[in-house]
Amino acid sequence: MSDKSKTGIDRRDLLIASLATVGASAALAAGTRAAQAQAATTTAAAAAADPTPGTVYTGDVIQGKKVVSALDVDDLEPGQKHHLYFQGVQMPTGQHWYASVIVAKGARPGKRGVLTSGVHGDEMSNIHTVQTVMNQLDPAQMSGTVMAVTDVARPAVESMQRRWPNQGRGADLIDMNREWPGNENGLTAPSRHAGLMFNRLLRPNADFAIDFHTGTTGFEVTAFNIGGMDVPEVKAMLELYPVGQIFDNHVYPGVLHNAFMDVGIPSFTPEIGAARVLDIEMISLFVEGTMNVFKHYGIVAGPMGRTGKDVNVFVGNSAFPILATEGGIVEHLVRLNDKVEAGQKVAIQRNSFGEVVAEYTSGVAGEITGQRSDAMAEPGNPLVFILFHKAAPGGGEAYPE
Ligand SMILES: [Zn+2]
Repeated sequence: MSDKSKTGIDRRDLLIASLATVGASAALAAGTRAAQAQAATTTAAAAAADPTPGTVYTGDVIQGKKVVSALDVDDLEPGQKHHLYFQGVQMPTGQHWYASVIVAKGARPGKRGVLTSGVHGDEMSNIHTVQTVMNQLDPAQMSGTVMAVTDVARPAVESMQRRWPNQGRGADLIDMNREWPGNENGLTAPSRHAGLMFNRLLRPNADFAIDFHTGTTGFEVTAFNIGGMDVPEVKAMLELYPVGQIFDNHVYPGVLHNAFMDVGIPSFTPEIGAARVLDIEMISLFVEGTMNVFKHYGIVAGPMGRTGKDVNVFVGNSAFPILATEGGIVEHLVRLNDKVEAGQKVAIQRNSFGEVVAEYTSGVAGEITGQRSDAMAEPGNPLVFILFHKAAPGGGEAYPE
């Protein structure tokens, strides 16, 4: 991943630090498992050096689905679909959070793709995209395997809210997409859940990975993909989607797709419109793009569908944020995907008397990629994100998600 050094020294340092952390916790996990199973054919030292934990069935069956605490898709019957539950972290009452795992195991060997959704609990079109893709796959015709986890942050999904409600100091709300790659011995349940899932389920089964998202409650976005186009494998995948925008940026550590990138697995994040709803038309574009990715990797045969070229995709490397400076009701003067010029007025805001208290203008020329959809705003709320091309992109980009 020497390509990534372009994004700066800070990021490389973080990358090295996180690699060291993952290695240590994976080694610890492998050692514990070998001792418990008493069936290891390798020495403890060799097991500790093996990053692939294999498959561990807990013996539990929930609603007809077997439960695993670790999975190697190579252990599953080829030419079939498999439905499993992954055993995540425990709840305060001692039961576990289980995540839904779908595996389409091809009849023939090949590349292994991982699809995830539900890292944020209020996002629905991403879940439906992953389900639709999995329903279209016929394992008998596949060369390779696709594994999907649709509800990564289960308690957040259960309450259809962005963040995981954990029992820290009273109730804390933790954003799971700042926790990756997690830590099996971490200080919070979501950190441990992320560690268990990344070490024992996601990383061992991924040659490439796609973490699907949407906008968030109160803030909707266009159809776009986020990823670093300086990494050739990522660029190739991003360009296979017939969606209007690409945000060419590595964003920041802690997001799931960067945890994959940091261990050498090409990965990116699609963003599929508004939270809380299903956008069937937009979903179909991401299904088409994802099937293109499978064809690109030889997992699925057949002609490519439409790609970014067919929709004249707009590529930017930075998102210009417009933050509310006042409280009041916001009226947008432009729509998602509109092109705007520097200095163009994009929104106004009125106080409770109906007086205009703020006018917001774009500082750049670009395309609208996200807008606050809740009409009321207080100072500091992001109102608009404008995708544009920055000559020298800096680190620590904010981005709409
Ligand atoms: Zn999200």
